[in-house]
Amino acid sequence: MLTLLGKEVKNGYGLYLGDSYYGTLDSHDRLDRAMTNLLAKYTSGEEKETAKFDKQISYINGTYLADSFVDESDIIRQFTSYKKNPTYYTIKQGEYIDDVLKNTGLTSDELTKLNPDFDMSTDFIAGNRLKTSMEEPFMTVMVTREEHYIETFDYETRYEDDPTMYVGNNQPRVEGELGECSVVANVSYINGNEVNRRVLSRTVTKEPVTKVIAVGTKPRTNTTAPGTTIEAGKMLWPVGGYDGGTLEEPVWWKGGYSGHRGVDITTAIGTPIYAAENGVVVSSVWAGNGDDRGNYVVIQGDSGLTTYYYHNSELWVSSGQRVTAGDMIASSGMTGRAYGPHCHFGVSVGNTYLNPTDYLPYHKQTASYAAKVAAHGG
Ligand SMILES: [Zn+2]
Repeated sequence: MLTLLGKEVKNGYGLYLGDSYYGTLDSHDRLDRAMTNLLAKYTSGEEKETAKFDKQISYINGTYLADSFVDESDIIRQFTSYKKNPTYYTIKQGEYIDDVLKNTGLTSDELTKLNPDFDMSTDFIAGNRLKTSMEEPFMTVMVTREEHYIETFDYETRYEDDPTMYVGNNQPRVEGELGECSVVANVSYINGNEVNRRVLSRTVTKEPVTKVIAVGTKPRTNTTAPGTTIEAGKMLWPVGGYDGGTLEEPVWWKGGYSGHRGVDITTAIGTPIYAAENGVVVSSVWAGNGDDRGNYVVIQGDSGLTTYYYHNSELWVSSGQRVTAGDMIASSGMTGRAYGPHCHFGVSVGNTYLNPTDYLPYHKQTASYAAKVAAHGG
């Protein structure tokens, strides 16, 4: 054993992290391997990638005091440890993503960034864990690499006048398709978190397809039935509630099911049903489920048109009673032949049934309603 000025000394490797001295090692092969493995955890193995620690590990070979020697295994344990451990949230039964955001105070972007491999649509199951904060490793790892990926971008929408369709009717003609470009970017990460992205090039590989929507411009004229006086759009919308329900099924000659002589307006049970025009109640019948029409009302309008209101839960008028447009005559329901709560509204002149929407103001409709009508001349 060598001594120097009365102290024991021996040959070894002084270990430095940046400028800080961490003691002396007999050998550093295992530490080097551990550090290589640590870097590998953050790298992808792609070309044009650099990975390094923010502070450089270095050794100075020389003669050191014997009591300055440290155990290589202890150093490895310290250098691969965390200054701060990651935190997790365990998903509980009956929770939604919103509950997790509320309970953790994270935004949905932050949560996605913390859990890049977590698929919210399939992995969001009670018992699974979401990372809610990043670990802070003892060694800070900095990675920069060139990444190649495909980006999508939005299409434009063009509206085209279509004189064959009535005003108020819209129909998609061409579905829009997203464009694609191939991107090359230089991306930097610290401890696996992206900190900088510099796009080097963006090349369009697929042009977007412009969405085209046909807009009806055909005026709604000549919809006054012979022997009547009411004009197009002049009837009152017969369904109340906060939004008046939704047109769901057209008359049969506009694509509705066979023999359907009115339009179906879906709305919650109990929604007020109003007289669409002035007239006299000619039928108000509590037929229940014993009749396809359910509990129904028929009004002979002053204009010469007859209006029909089917499937009600309650009736508020009696036969022979005079009503004014806007009077509440019934509450909507699903009595009779009804697949769900709705008001079946019909219009006729005598025994000739007409398309009610020719007399009603324009109203919102389902996509399938619009498509059926458009396919039958608007
Ligand atoms: Zn119907």
